Amino acid sequence: MSDAQPTLAILGGGQLGRMLGLSAVPLGVKVRSLDPVDGAPASAIGDLVVGPLDDPDALRTTTAGADVVTFEWEGVPAAPLRALVAEGAVLRPPADALEVSQDRVDEKTTFRALGIPVADFAPVGDAAGLEDALQRIGAPAILKTRRGGYDGKGQATIASPADAPGAWDELRAGGPLILERRVAFSRELSIIAVRGTDGEIRTWPLVENEHRDGILRTSHAPAPDVDAALQARADGHVRAVLEHFDYVGVLTLELFQVGDDLLANEMAPRVHNSGHWTIEGARTSQFENHVRAVLGWPLGPTDAPGPSVMINCIGALPEPAAVLAIPGAHLHRYGKAPRPGRKVGHVTITADGRAELDRRVRAVRAVLPADVG
Ligand code: AMP
Repeated sequence: MSDAQPTLAILGGGQLGRMLGLSAVPLGVKVRSLDPVDGAPASAIGDLVVGPLDDPDALRTTTAGADVVTFEWEGVPAAPLRALVAEGAVLRPPADALEVSQDRVDEKTTFRALGIPVADFAPVGDAAGLEDALQRIGAPAILKTRRGGYDGKGQATIASPADAPGAWDELRAGGPLILERRVAFSRELSIIAVRGTDGEIRTWPLVENEHRDGILRTSHAPAPDVDAALQARADGHVRAVLEHFDYVGVLTLELFQVGDDLLANEMAPRVHNSGHWTIEGARTSQFENHVRAVLGWPLGPTDAPGPSVMINCIGALPEPAAVLAIPGAHLHRYGKAPRPGRKVGHVTITADGRAELDRRVRAVRAVLPADVG
């Protein structure tokens, strides 16, 4: 029997870190998080070091004596993490996966090399390069910043070549760019998977995601109308990425469905918003399995006993009592001050069957403030 309590250092103290901590605590794992904001969501579940995520001293203070270092934000620069690893820190997932996820061109190049289909794309360095790329790729297309974009920020649609100069002016200050063909997808899906230190891989059922203004609003899990072949295709894609990086932990691949094909849009080398439903909707949550994986422990089963829907609360929260009065509704509040466009909580609704689920989802939507979910 072991009563040793391992310490997990988590870089980033937002809601993802808070939910990681909420699954680490029952396993007797101590959590120490790093976040620039005093009172960040993760302060509720362990020690919080307040400091910048790219500051070598803050990183060293947070990770000193930790058994494992992980991250909940993929903006952490890879170079200081590599320095920590050189000093003996155990970093999971690996810095290589983090670094590739920070650059859309590197990411899509990696997917393509692994045989995973992607939308046609080209790096763009200047206005003339944009003209060339647009000629090759064709409109409609989307111009994006290669680095630092999230929740649809740093993107401009080019519906026809006449839009190109405006898109260039809008994004040129954001560093190097990428032009992507705009995919006429039938829906957006994500596949979440976890790989252990022994190489075991488990995937959760495919999730269907609805976005508005580039922000995830709703996830349906398992995604409806998924046959075994589609799930197997998604599993194969995410498996290829995990094995390529000798990855340990949870990774999410965001996908566009076109016919029976799945095109990879981007990867998140961390737990993901489209996996929040797993807390109540799967046998083991993405958060618990991430903790298990990075600590070298056996993974838990990832199947979903029933259907669930996750609704993000963007910019405002519902009255807790109104949500909690609805059967199967699970409220999560992140302890963040509400601001327009900010993810401040979510509600997961579970049920035994789809008809009951639909009824409960309607009841939850009726008590959400306007335009929140
Ligand atoms: P991203 O920041 O790449 O995740 O993009 C945010 C959202 O914009 C996606 O979830 C899609 O809804 C949309 N989007 C991004 N890239 C494309 C694309 N190449 N074709 C069509 N829609 C896209």
